[in-house]
Formats: sequence, C-alpha cells, structure tokens
Amino acid sequence: MSTVNLSTITKRFGNVTAVKGLDLVIEEGEFFTFLGPSGCGKTTTLRMIAGFYYPSSGKVKFNERDMTTVPPEKRNTGMVFQNYALFPHMTVFENVAFGLNVRKINKANTKKRVEDVLNKVRLDQYITRQVSQLSGGQQQRVALARALVIEPDILLLDEPLSNLDARLRDEMRTEILRLQREYGITTIYVTHDQVEALTMSDRIAVFNYGECQQIGTPTDIYNKPVNDFVAEFIGETNLSPIIFEEKALGDDLVFHSNLLESSIHVNHSELNIAAYDGSDELVMSIRPEAIHIDGNQTTGKNNVFTGEVSLVQFTGASVHTFIKLNDNFTIKATDLNRGPSTYFKEGTEVSVHMPEDQIRVIPKARE
Ligand code: ATP
Repeated sequence: MSTVNLSTITKRFGNVTAVKGLDLVIEEGEFFTFLGPSGCGKTTTLRMIAGFYYPSSGKVKFNERDMTTVPPEKRNTGMVFQNYALFPHMTVFENVAFGLNVRKINKANTKKRVEDVLNKVRLDQYITRQVSQLSGGQQQRVALARALVIEPDILLLDEPLSNLDARLRDEMRTEILRLQREYGITTIYVTHDQVEALTMSDRIAVFNYGECQQIGTPTDIYNKPVNDFVAEFIGETNLSPIIFEEKALGDDLVFHSNLLESSIHVNHSELNIAAYDGSDELVMSIRPEAIHIDGNQTTGKNNVFTGEVSLVQFTGASVHTFIKLNDNFTIKATDLNRGPSTYFKEGTEVSVHMPEDQIRVIPKARE
C-alpha cells in the first residue's frame, strides 16, 4: 500500500495545459476521487500516476519514493479503463492471468491467485468462459479482477462504470467499494458523476480547467463548497450574484441581490467580511432542500419572497417545486414526498423562505 504525493505537477500538450500546478496527497488505503466535467484534466492526472504520461514539471511520489519518470510496468499499479481493455477472445482465466504471466509467476501460483480473485469478484463459475460471452457487468468484474490479481499498491479506476446501465452501475459501486475495503488498497477513481463521487469516496478533488477547485470529504464539499462552480457541480443549487451592503445586528450580514430585487440577510460566520477586499465577485448559494415553502409561518422572518409555482416535478421520494419569484429568477425547492396534500399546484401563489443560516456566500470561480 502506498500514499500518492503529487507536488506542483503540470502537464502540457503543445499549447494546451491539461493540468496546472496540482498539489495533492492521497493517504494509504484511501478511496480518493477525481471529479469534474469533461476535459478538466482528471484522466491526464491519473495517467501521470500510472506512468503513461510524464509530467511537464513537478513530482509524483509513492510513499517517499520519486516515481516521476519510472515506467508504468515498474510502478505496481492496477488500472481499470472505461472500455475495460480486455482480450475478448481469451477466457476469463487467461485475461486475469495475463499480468501474472508477464511477471513470470509459476503456473500453480498463478492458478491459485486467479481463482482467489475470481472468487472475490464473484465470477468463479465463469473461469473458462470467453470474455466476449459475458455481460457488461461481468466484463467489468473481470477487468477489476485483472487489476487486483497483481496485488497492486495502488488501484486506478478511470470511469469504470460509464458503460453500464443505471441499475448495474449502482450495484457495481457497492461492489467496488466492498473490494476496496476488503483489500484496503489505496484507490483513485476518476468520474464526472457526482453521485458516484459522493457515495463512494473518502475524499474528493473537484477539478475544473486543469485546476483543483476543492479537496474534501463528500459532506464537506456538499455543505461547504468553496465557489459557485463546486456548488453547482455537486448537487443542485440556486445561485444569485450579490453585493455586500452592511453588517446588521447580531452576526447577520446584509447583501443585495439584483436577481431577487431585494436585500438578503445571511448568518455567515465563515465569511470574514472585514478581510474581504472586494476583488472577488460574490454569489449566494442555497440548496433546494434548504428552501421552505410555507404559506403561513413566514411573518417576521428575513428573506421571505412571494412567487408563483411554475412547475412541480414528482420523483417518487421527493418533490421539486419551481417558483417564479420574478421575470429573471425562478428558484427550485425540494422537499421529501409527504403525501398528496402537500404538493403545490402550478399557478399557486406561495411564500418562500430562505433561512439566513442556509445561505452560503462564496466567490465566483475564476476561469
Ligand atoms: P474526460 O472526462 O472527457 O476524459 P478529463 O477530465 O479526463 O476529460 P483529460 O482527458 O485529462 O480530461 O484532458 C484534459 C485536456 O487535455 C483536454 O483539453 C484534452 O483535450 C487535453 N488532452 C488530453 N490528452 C491529450 C493528448 N494526448 N494530446 C493533446 N491534448 C490532450
């Protein structure tokens, strides 16, 4: 098992800078996810860890060992690709044994290790089956077994579930996590799927434009996004640019939102307004589940607005209500499904409450 330490790594392809000065430490045994939209540098970073690319500058270390220019076959990493990269006309056994044959492990030992790992991924009955005759989920398990059989120090997974349908994806998430816990192996997982990142990871690094925007646990990143890009990429949110107005009584800060055509009170102990120099544009973010639609209980509260219900989406477990507050701003509120009597009808006038302690004031992300 290894820690992975990236210090100020940059990767340029001609005049494209795919990764810009990334610093990152991944702990031993951690399930660490690179999350971000297409083209943000996730795969390039993973490939520098695997050794398929060397950084233009900066260092890659496993534990204290400098691996920056060590070739891939000498890094002892196991990799699973999006397209699995299996040999379709070979059997499950032959595919999984491949890495052991390359390492010149003897026949008896190879047989035992392949059988053990196939048992772990629950494919023991398919050992003699040709890979092309397996389902997508089974092929995914073969790819995992092939990566694990070499007993890698680090497991690298590049969008391993994107070719599976939703139900199977869900099942394989649990499966991968189970195997990762069982082997206790340092794992780096690349995805653009926020649900995968939130449900599987010990920690997540959110990437955009080749830069890491935030590193943290799933709850940290969801509850305390550092800028509007992170707030919007993970989960859903309502965003509005705001301008600082004044410090009010107690801990409240007052901002003005042009979109809401109103002042907004925020109880925000993390924003150090004394140190705020006005150079960043500020944005308010409030999650749909933090918004209350409550007709009668809003008198005397700050941040209460009236609007018209423009759309109601029923998802089963929850209900999304879109409320048009004015011509420029429609907000989304999400509530648990508490039964038909609590759904709002489209066209109803409602009041909307945004609690002061649920609004986050964050800077706009730089491009
Ligand atoms: P995706 O989810 O689409 O794979 P990603 O976040 O993994 O995206 P990368 O594949 O790391 O992104 O690509 C980052 C940037 O570097 C992109 O602009 C991409 O076009 C560019 N890039 C990646 N590999 C190469 C290459 N071999 N040659 C030139 N440009 C490249």
